[in-house]
Amino acid sequence: MKHLLKSVAKRMATSEALIRPIAMAADMFMSSRGCLTTFHRAAPSQAWDRLPNRDFYLDLGFLDQFLTYLTGRGWDVVTMEEALRRSKLDKPNDRFINFSIDDCYRDTFEDVVPLFRRHNAPVTLFVTTGIPDGTLSLWAAGLEDVLLHNDRVMLEDGAIKVPTTEAKIAAFHRIASSWDGPQAAARYTTFCELNGVDIEAMHWKHAISWDMLEALRDDPLVEIGAHTVSHARISSLSPAGARAELQGSRDRLIERLGIPARHFAFPYGRAGDCGPRDFEIAREAGFVSAATTRKGLVRHGQPPFSLPRNTINGAHRSLATMELHLTGFTGAAARMTGRV
Ligand SMILES: [Zn+2]
Repeated sequence: MKHLLKSVAKRMATSEALIRPIAMAADMFMSSRGCLTTFHRAAPSQAWDRLPNRDFYLDLGFLDQFLTYLTGRGWDVVTMEEALRRSKLDKPNDRFINFSIDDCYRDTFEDVVPLFRRHNAPVTLFVTTGIPDGTLSLWAAGLEDVLLHNDRVMLEDGAIKVPTTEAKIAAFHRIASSWDGPQAAARYTTFCELNGVDIEAMHWKHAISWDMLEALRDDPLVEIGAHTVSHARISSLSPAGARAELQGSRDRLIERLGIPARHFAFPYGRAGDCGPRDFEIAREAGFVSAATTRKGLVRHGQPPFSLPRNTINGAHRSLATMELHLTGFTGAAARMTGRV
């Protein structure tokens, strides 16, 4: 079953000709549809092609095309606030979609929000406050940057050569998976020393700053929500630790931006990363919603503290793949195969 669903999804995703029948079938059988999506970073098409960790980025050219496509198909791009309101109405033929950016990097400010502005479409930012505070190590971004700009890189056990994009991609994934975990920040610090990288300067090359967020806060198309202080996996923390992450990020946004964030997104967001205890902590912290990354559509009467969201990444550069999210196919497939 798993393989069948995977091959059906793959074939659909690679054939643009299949978009229309999928979309038409969904129109016939589903009266109202709400789709929440999330991504992290975005880059212009030419730069995207060369990125060692490119699946982490949306191709801005594709995002532009997708936003145009949605308008043509009668989808309303809305804030989380509006998505929640509409999920309670169950209006026939209603179609709404929300885009949220998790973590928030410099490109959110420089590239992504300006693109949404050109489409006059709102976008939600789920800010990890340790990024503008400079307390969270952006080790993956720094590692990628060094690999991108150097053909020879020093590791603890010697130098490696990465002359081609393919070699850089392979090296990024190999090194990132060996670093991943509590030691990642320390390994990255050593890596920066070995390669003569100014770790502070590298942080601000990729991070969003409070000044940028202040400017975005005043944009009527931008909605700001919280995404913890340190990007911790909330289910793994003690109740007090979990509260400190949720409440702490909300308090920090009030302190720096003067806004009481109403919406929260769980880091990682899959079934093992946040559960009923954590949904309750989000409510207690003063949020009115919390989003996961469990795939699927927002249903009428949707519990607001375990909202499904569909992650879109660099590999998803086809409108047919996007239709699989918009029709709820990816959510149904994930539930059937237990990948939640
Ligand atoms: Zn995140």
